Parts: sequence; structure tokens; C-alpha cells
Amino acid sequence: MSNLKLVSLEHHQRSIVAVGNVRFGEKLVLIAGPCSVESEEQMIETAVAVKECGADMLRGGAFKPRTSPYAFQGLGLQGLKILAKARDLTGLPFATEVLDTRDVSWVAEFADMIQIGTRNMQNFSLLKEVGKLQKPVLLKRGMYSTLEEWLNCAEYIMNEGNPNVILCERGIRSFETYTRNTLDLSAVPAMKELSHLPVITDPTHGTGKPSLIEPMSLASVAAGADGLIIEVHRNPEEALSDKDQALTPRQFAGLVKKVRALEKFSQDNHILRPMVEEREHHES
Ligand code: PEP
Ligand code: MN
Repeated sequence: MSNLKLVSLEHHQRSIVAVGNVRFGEKLVLIAGPCSVESEEQMIETAVAVKECGADMLRGGAFKPRTSPYAFQGLGLQGLKILAKARDLTGLPFATEVLDTRDVSWVAEFADMIQIGTRNMQNFSLLKEVGKLQKPVLLKRGMYSTLEEWLNCAEYIMNEGNPNVILCERGIRSFETYTRNTLDLSAVPAMKELSHLPVITDPTHGTGKPSLIEPMSLASVAAGADGLIIEVHRNPEEALSDKDQALTPRQFAGLVKKVRALEKFSQDNHILRPMVEEREHHES
């Protein structure tokens, strides 16, 4: 792959991207929260619950990219204020999506991490705009995109001067209909041998099924992911978006216990070192 001079692993050390005290690329980062911020009570209650479960960061959409124009579009500014309140209360930084170039600079004043969603991965104006900041960017993989296209989008951001990019595999469209998307887990080790950037997965949008989120979270950790982003709602049935895929806080608590145990086992047994470094190790 050519012309990936900033994102490629070839001439760079592995990156650690810091979001407050949270360091992607160092230990497994768990991001959790609702798909959308719906009300102060809903967001705060969920934020407190996921913190108790052991989450490192919060998530919540204030601007929602919905398939239908009649579906809930998010609370906008009010949603961001609620997210800031949830952060103050829990001490956990938050990630939130930006859809429009005109909103980037003011949303960045609230958010700890800016999410670029799958539908905007190749929105080059948006990529350039977030590239002008130093705010960490969570770049989701386009649902129809190749790894090379995805890497080029990270290159766009870094080329504007922002080195703080985290990649998120969130599932791609395939012929399968049982799952919402096909979580491409081979993308995790593949991106880690191509790039120095941290890679996380989104088993929630990657499967669309609560029963599959925990196994795919464990599989992500086994594949070497640097983190997970999981949708959790205090009462999934009431969710205004993605209600069929949200975990309850209790389900999330069980997931956290297992992924942390797997993380510890992998560290203790040195089984997650990326192959590239393994090779270098043998050569030296
Ligand atoms: C989300 O995280 O709520 C979201 C809309 O994700 P994606 O862009 O991956 O569909
Ligand atoms: Mn969602």
C-alpha cells in the first residue's frame, strides 16, 4: 500500500492515543453508553451504571445519522451538555459523533473524543476539519470500505496535523441477514500490521444482536483489539435508537468481567503481542 506515510507502521512506533487519563494502545479501553442521549436521567443513570461495571469512557450520540429522516435525530447541543454533566459526575471522558463540518469546532469544545461514523468515513471535508484539531478522533470503518480506503481516511486526518486517531472496526455489509453487519475481526490484526494506530471494535453495530456481543467482544480481545465500544441502555426497550442491540447494565457487567479476565490472561501469558513485533523480536 503506497502513500500511507503517516499511518503506516513502517516508519513509526506504535501510537498511544490519550483521551484524558485513558490511554488507547496501552491497556484494553472499554467505552460504553447509549446509542443516543435521550434525556438527562437516561444518560446519567446509564453513565453511573457503566462506570460501576468498570467502563473507562462514555459514549452517547447527540447528532444521529438515521436511515429515516423521521427517526429521532438526537438532542444536539442539549445532548452535549448532558454528556458533559455525565462526565463531571463520573469522571469518565466521552466520545460523541459529529455529522457536519459546521459543527466540528464547537462540538470539540464539549467532547473528549470525536467520532466519525461509518456513513461519513469518506466525507473528506469532515476528515480535514477534525484533522485541524488535536482532539482524538474515533474513525469508524465505512460499511463498504476496504482496509486501504480506511487507512487513507486516517491519513487525511493526520495529514492536517492531528496524530490522535483511533480506528474502529464496526462491521461491514455482506450477504448475511441474520446479523446486522459482519464484524470483520481479521481487520484487527491486519490493521495492526499495517498501521501504528490503536484499533478497537464495535461488537454492538458489528452484530446487532445482544446475544452475540459478548462472544464477539471476547473474540476482539483475542484478536488483539485495543478497546471495545458497546451500547448500553438503562432500559433497552425504551431506547429511541438501536433498541434491539443495546445491552442492559447487568449484561454489560458480565461482559466486562469476562473481557478483563481474558485481557489479564493474555498479558500474563504474552499471547497478544502483534506478529510484526514478534518477527522483529526474533530477528534482533
Ligand atoms: C453509533 O455509534 O451509534 C453509530 C451510528 O455507529 P456507526 O457509524 O458505526 O453506524
Ligand atoms: Mn447506535
